[in-house]
Amino acid sequence: MPELPDVEHMRRYFESEALGVPLVGVEVRDPLLLRGLEPSALDGALVGAGFASTYRHGKYLFASTAEGDRPWLLLHFGMTGGLERTQLGEVDPRYTRVSFRFADGGALHLRDQRRLGRVGLVDDPAGFVAGKRLGPDALDPALTAPAFDERLAQRRGFLKGVLTNQQFVAGLGNIYADEVCLAAGLAPFSLVEHLSKDDRRELHKTMRRVLGKAIDLLEAGRDFPRSWLLTQRRADGDCRGCGGKVARRRFEGRYTYWCPRCQKEV
Ligand SMILES: [Zn+2]
Repeated sequence: MPELPDVEHMRRYFESEALGVPLVGVEVRDPLLLRGLEPSALDGALVGAGFASTYRHGKYLFASTAEGDRPWLLLHFGMTGGLERTQLGEVDPRYTRVSFRFADGGALHLRDQRRLGRVGLVDDPAGFVAGKRLGPDALDPALTAPAFDERLAQRRGFLKGVLTNQQFVAGLGNIYADEVCLAAGLAPFSLVEHLSKDDRRELHKTMRRVLGKAIDLLEAGRDFPRSWLLTQRRADGDCRGCGGKVARRRFEGRYTYWCPRCQKEV
């Protein structure tokens, strides 16, 4: 599932591939992703202008058009969504659900095999974020260590559940929450009310470091280190820290992975 690093990677891709070219049409092959919005509304709002800027909050990506009074495009990538730019004459990628066709003959496509993504229009991203009651973006510079600490101190329950709660902090999902827990040396089923001040500080620092590193790796097209859980998410996965096997447990319908030796449960 695309989480903050993946969506940030797509935001940068969107910026490099899709800004400044006039849009001539929006082709909706699967209205399911529009969640009730009329396909003609997308056309009416976007065609004629080109995309001018992007903005990301957590797992949501927004794009404005060059004409300021128009709504913003909203994209959410669900479980399997992704963006792909094609040039004139190239075929549309597999599982294309919505295509933004440009005057240069190319297009930006939203691919989504499982169709859990979303394409919409919003008047302004900040209003949308507030309406959804999303927490601050996990990489927001305003989310300082004290601000993070203050938010965390108000929460109760499993660390994993808190980290993946988008109203706590926006951007972490199943995979990166596990990664942050490993890097912070904290078991995902620790109770946040049992964390010490040092634990909470470490968590903040680690969250920023892991997300930043993941974005760098995605941008560079490089593999993730084998010390990351991301490469060991299977029943017999290894912990590179201690040489033992990782543990897994179902939580909210998906597997959580961790190392019981390297991550303390508090
Ligand atoms: Zn270990």
